[in-house]
Amino acid sequence: MRSGVGADMSTGHVIFIGAGPGAADLITLRGARKLAQADVVLFDALTDPALRAFAPRARWINVGKRGFCDSTGQTTINALLVKHAREGSTVVRLKGGDPSVFGRLEEELDALAQAGIACEVVPGVTAAIAAAAATQRPLTRRGSGRSVSLSTAMTRTGDVQATRTADTEVFYMAGKQLAALARRLADAGWPADTPVSLVSRAGWPDQMHSDHTLQTLSGGSMLHAGRPTIVTVGAGAVPTAQRHHVSASHGADIHPHRVETPES
Ligand code: SAH
Repeated sequence: MRSGVGADMSTGHVIFIGAGPGAADLITLRGARKLAQADVVLFDALTDPALRAFAPRARWINVGKRGFCDSTGQTTINALLVKHAREGSTVVRLKGGDPSVFGRLEEELDALAQAGIACEVVPGVTAAIAAAAATQRPLTRRGSGRSVSLSTAMTRTGDVQATRTADTEVFYMAGKQLAALARRLADAGWPADTPVSLVSRAGWPDQMHSDHTLQTLSGGSMLHAGRPTIVTVGAGAVPTAQRHHVSASHGADIHPHRVETPES
């Protein structure tokens, strides 16, 4: 528990919960239990509507946004969190993936601390991890993959940025910028034949995966258009030995039916 300055017992509190990347059963057990305590749930667009079953009596408010929201949007969310907590509610702020990864958590924690409202953060499965699981490609590899970096390709100014600081570089919010991302990666010193794996809607029944190199990365744009996409570059994109993939319980199985290889 993080108690804000001046928190008093009559106010409610806010629980940030990572919903995981897709299907409702990817939320953690703790997340599901805390969600069930909610009076009010402020949720993002990327969270699974099936999660409502965990808190059917709560008031669900959609505060979803894509990409950088304007300051009014974030200010409104902050204000809603404070308002409902001040009314004495247990407020759940349900975020896609993990709240600490590209989730604007800092702004919301700061707003609550300033208002003296206690909060708690429950972690979730971030999209990079879900993509690794979907493709059975570990992000770390003995000998060749000692470090992993999570980056957003999108900057506030709209520029695409990329580096070569880790053996495996994972990019969020890059689906619309693949050609520019490929150029930036090349500028950063990644060779043209570096493996790149694209996974969209990881963890959902319709997840899709495609394999590329830096040189052919832009070809993935059409295939994953309009879908949240993770771009994994380097060691973590290298396929492991061919093996049989068992379908997940919700029916998601990208092998062999959903694997797309535009280059082959
Ligand atoms: N907090 C989230 C990330 C939010 S930023 C997390 O931890 O996963 C939104 C970006 O996350 C999307 O643009 C996309 O790059 C990625 N993303 C979220 N869900 C995804 C999914 N199911 N499959 C692939 N990428 C996903």
